[in-house]
Amino acid sequence: MSLDIMSDDQGASRQTFLKIVRHVRRDRRISGSLDMTVASHLNCNMPKYQRSLISQLRLGVLPLRIETGRFTGLDVVDRLCQVCAGNHVENEIHFLFECSEYNEYRNELETAINATFSELSIQEKFDKVFSHPHSLSRYVTLAYKKRQEKMYKAV
Ligand SMILES: [Zn+2]
Repeated sequence: MSLDIMSDDQGASRQTFLKIVRHVRRDRRISGSLDMTVASHLNCNMPKYQRSLISQLRLGVLPLRIETGRFTGLDVVDRLCQVCAGNHVENEIHFLFECSEYNEYRNELETAINATFSELSIQEKFDKVFSHPHSLSRYVTLAYKKRQEKMYKAV
């Protein structure tokens, strides 16, 4: 049995995330031309580092605590965000849509893609952000940079 069996809410929402991301990819394959088989962000003229962050996010391997905690054997519920003081598990959903420390970048993202996340379902949020790879990339890059600064300068 894996340590990562997730029966709690946090685990369930992460499973939803991974399912949605895979679903988005499947949709692209079915509906699009051959070019669409490549994730849309890979086709964009985007620096390698930014492409890499988005790829990691899509695959669920961006080194957020939900992922890094696995290496140290932390229970899922203890893989808390160390950037905000909100006592939330740091998974992709928290990183993208919830963490208060990234509100400034998130507001900018919402404006850029003409969305109001509070009015959207999780599925709609992911559909929206992954269909705007440049704006998403900007958000992820800024937020991840702030995260690294907060986590490693404080030590
Ligand atoms: Zn947070």
